[in-house]
Amino acid sequence: MKINIFLFLIFFNFTYIFFSQETYAEYKIIDAPYCVNNKGEEVKFQNMKSKTSKITLGIAKKDGEGKPIIYRFNYNQSSNPLQMFIDYHECAHHQTGDLDKPHPPQNSFEHLMKESIADCIAAIRMKSDNINGRVYIKKALLELNKAMKYIGFDKSTIKSREDNILNCFNKNISLSAYIENIIKKNIDTKY
Ligand SMILES: [Zn+2]
Repeated sequence: MKINIFLFLIFFNFTYIFFSQETYAEYKIIDAPYCVNNKGEEVKFQNMKSKTSKITLGIAKKDGEGKPIIYRFNYNQSSNPLQMFIDYHECAHHQTGDLDKPHPPQNSFEHLMKESIADCIAAIRMKSDNINGRVYIKKALLELNKAMKYIGFDKSTIKSREDNILNCFNKNISLSAYIENIIKKNIDTKY
């Protein structure tokens, strides 16, 4: 099964984990990208630090007042291209309206599809928003692959995720067209 990916979810459904093995490396945290959800609300970003964990991860959620937010954990532990990729990926969950729907069961097909789509949007945005997008995506993938290997994913899982990201990066489609398609499909299938 090709989409046996993205099993590294810990806290919530829309959690994404990246791990930097270079624990002594300290990176500058990039400015958050502009992000607007499917209802036109601006998404806030908040940097979080964990003293005990070196894991870099992003979480797309709604805050106590129902406003869209992305928590950025330990971004200083990963390179700028990977930070950017995580931001885009988490933003994608807000852009497609994932947070309006009930969470699909962990590792269900729907869940994996959502992760795959968020990766795809992140890859397309990496290209459309950056002159050096190809360099960034390569760096982000390198680090991501290392992290997945470290966590214990098998080669084929890592490869299929990388393939999906690269395919999307090379797609000849605009970011907005791709997202509109996804939103339309979600409405049609009501999942
Ligand atoms: Zn995700």
